[in-house]
Amino acid sequence: MGIAEKEQKTPLTILRIAVPVPLYTLFDYLPPNSKGSESIDSFDLQPGIRIRIPFGRTDHIGVLVEVYKNSEKPQYRLKKAIEILDQKPVISHDIFQLSRFAAAYYHHPLGEVINNTLPPLLRQGKEAGYKNINYWKLTPEGFKVSFNELKRAPQQKIFLELFQTHRQGLSASQLSEVTTSWRRIINIFIKNRWLEVCEAPSVPATPKTKKFNQSLLELNKNQQQAVQSVTKSLSKFQTFLLDGVTGSGKTEVYFRIIEEVIQKNRQAMVLVPEIGLTPQLVERFKKRFSVPLVVVHSEISNRERLNAWLQAKDGTAVIVIGTRSALFLPLHSSGVFIIDEEHDISFKQQEGFRYHARDIAIMRASQANVPIILGSATPSLESLRNVSLGRYRSLKLTKRAGGAQKPTIKLLDIRNRAMESNLSLSLLKAIRQHLEAGNQVLLFLNRRGYAPSVICHKCGWIAECRRCDASMTFHQYRQKLCCHHCGSQNQMPNSCPKCQETKLISRGYGTERVEQILKQHFPDYGIERIDRDSTSRKGAMEQCLKNIHEGRSQLLVGTQMLAKGHHFPNVTLVGIIDADQGLFGVDFRASERMAQLIIQVTGRAGREEKPGEVLIQTHHPEHPLLQALVQQDYHEFAKLVMQERLTADLPPYCSMALLRAEATESKLPGLFLEEATQLINDTKHSNILIFGPVPAPMERRAGRFRAQLILQSTERSDLHRLLKAWVPRLGKLKAARKVRWSLDVDPMDMI
Ligand code: ADP
Ligand code: ZN
Ligand code: ZN
Repeated sequence: MGIAEKEQKTPLTILRIAVPVPLYTLFDYLPPNSKGSESIDSFDLQPGIRIRIPFGRTDHIGVLVEVYKNSEKPQYRLKKAIEILDQKPVISHDIFQLSRFAAAYYHHPLGEVINNTLPPLLRQGKEAGYKNINYWKLTPEGFKVSFNELKRAPQQKIFLELFQTHRQGLSASQLSEVTTSWRRIINIFIKNRWLEVCEAPSVPATPKTKKFNQSLLELNKNQQQAVQSVTKSLSKFQTFLLDGVTGSGKTEVYFRIIEEVIQKNRQAMVLVPEIGLTPQLVERFKKRFSVPLVVVHSEISNRERLNAWLQAKDGTAVIVIGTRSALFLPLHSSGVFIIDEEHDISFKQQEGFRYHARDIAIMRASQANVPIILGSATPSLESLRNVSLGRYRSLKLTKRAGGAQKPTIKLLDIRNRAMESNLSLSLLKAIRQHLEAGNQVLLFLNRRGYAPSVICHKCGWIAECRRCDASMTFHQYRQKLCCHHCGSQNQMPNSCPKCQETKLISRGYGTERVEQILKQHFPDYGIERIDRDSTSRKGAMEQCLKNIHEGRSQLLVGTQMLAKGHHFPNVTLVGIIDADQGLFGVDFRASERMAQLIIQVTGRAGREEKPGEVLIQTHHPEHPLLQALVQQDYHEFAKLVMQERLTADLPPYCSMALLRAEATESKLPGLFLEEATQLINDTKHSNILIFGPVPAPMERRAGRFRAQLILQSTERSDLHRLLKAWVPRLGKLKAARKVRWSLDVDPMDMI
């Protein structure tokens, strides 16, 4: 009798679901009610489909992790899911695996990690299918507009011209290649009834082609060796560090490897830094490969992003190029991963789920059993160490391809020298010589705005941000004081708010000011400034670049935006205005970053018949790091910095994690971190060093007080064992509810 009863009882089907909430558990639900006559067969429910579920007071979209049967009565009443959204999984097996790994490595909730891999439209519950995308094209009225009408709106004129030549229309991603402020202009045009929206299928109707346009270049020995090393083992996981000086032809090496991968009917994924994804780079790829290619970055529309996701997933897209977030695009059959400028910190996501795209890509390549190539002229110290440990294989390109010579680099000792503002007379003289010889000059200063601080000459008042521990930067063009940390803006006061004195002086130099100084000294030459302000203001960075390339301007001043993706063949002099910024930075990576920037900027200049010259202004010409960089090369510099890191027990010689907390009340972050530290002390953990809690180097930012706790260990596994036990408990601490806290594994930014 008892047995019969048990057999009659049908076991419960339970859905275990990953929900995008900051909690370290999965959640169980019962299958939803079936709709009409269809009944839900739990065997049809494959892991990876989206399910809408009630959660708290609202509903959420989660992803099914597993289905299991339970004959025991659950200990609490399970809720019913609301709706099944997919028939086929949107999270494929390998993305599941990758998410699991990433969640474990970064100690981040799995539900959030999985959600992060989905394009926004799928997160919102939209159908996972192709839809037409919007194009804008000129209306008959639009065609009648004359350029004369737009004399005072140069940007609109550019757009009008563009639409006239692309009669079939332009999509968001095409427009974003022209300027980041395209939406503003489109809105003006739509208001004027010059544009209409139309729809077109997003997927090119062309069949899968495998054409590529043969390169006319003959590879040099270094390049040949690099290509062979990789192509010899295309179906094996291996991390390669393509360590090649700027202009050594790394892109050509990528191209040859991608050719082989396409031959094998596989896909290539290429990740580039945010400012490295230039239209020129995409153009180079498109010229070389006539295969379906998708480009994924922050400027494309949500519909375009979903379409790109679908094309990558079903294999329509053969090459995927994108910034950090493109890493999580599912691939039909991956063949190679390429991380260009692997040292660039834009590969690290600095908020929310703080992952490093390079490191996760390596894991992805390992799971797919295919090679991954990290390319850079200035590899990160982490990667160099991995080479010396034998984990990565180094491929070196030591010469500039095509025979261009290495520029000569010299330090300009500016101690006690006559200066015109922040330009030494020797630098000015060199600029004049190069200009008079008909060449172009590039000046690099990694600080935008006019002056980084404004001070009252009478009482010493300094314009500070009300919300941050930082001074306001004066922007002369807009007549504003701006905070570069929280984005606050004020009008430049006419007089000192403290003593009413009208003599306010701006101290220090930014790119705007350098531009002004250059204008005074070289009134006969065209000057372009490239930084975040000038390119958003004029809209067209393209225009600046065009002026340089076509020789209308001879002087170029800019920030790190200049450091990547561009090549200026007629620039023969590069001036680094301030190398000292990086030598004594708060962040232990400051010197590494400075060296990387200097080398990258240096690499923009010169070509075969016009070798470049680089002058670096410094107050510390004897500094061993600068000496190594200038007298020898980046690798000698890197050796010295490695030595410093080893002595100081810093990455890459240890693994580090940073627990951050912030709150509007100054005491709370410290309190939370104290409780968190207590939690560690209660358990036994050896081999872990704990520093803090201490206030963050910039304690107040955007109106919040910030503190941090550093944990480090020479053994990664020891650190991770601690984190695994510790992090899920942090949310339950008393003080946790009053602060915003986050964990950053392998932090790249300590400020
Ligand atoms: P990197 O990516 O290493 O900075 P690029 O791939 O942009 O270098 O190459 C720099 C320049 O050298 C490009 O104009 C490229 O066409 C050229 N180049 C590359 N390989 C060769 C080669 N084997 N022979 C001649 N020119 C080459
Ligand atoms: Zn004053
Ligand atoms: Zn601020």
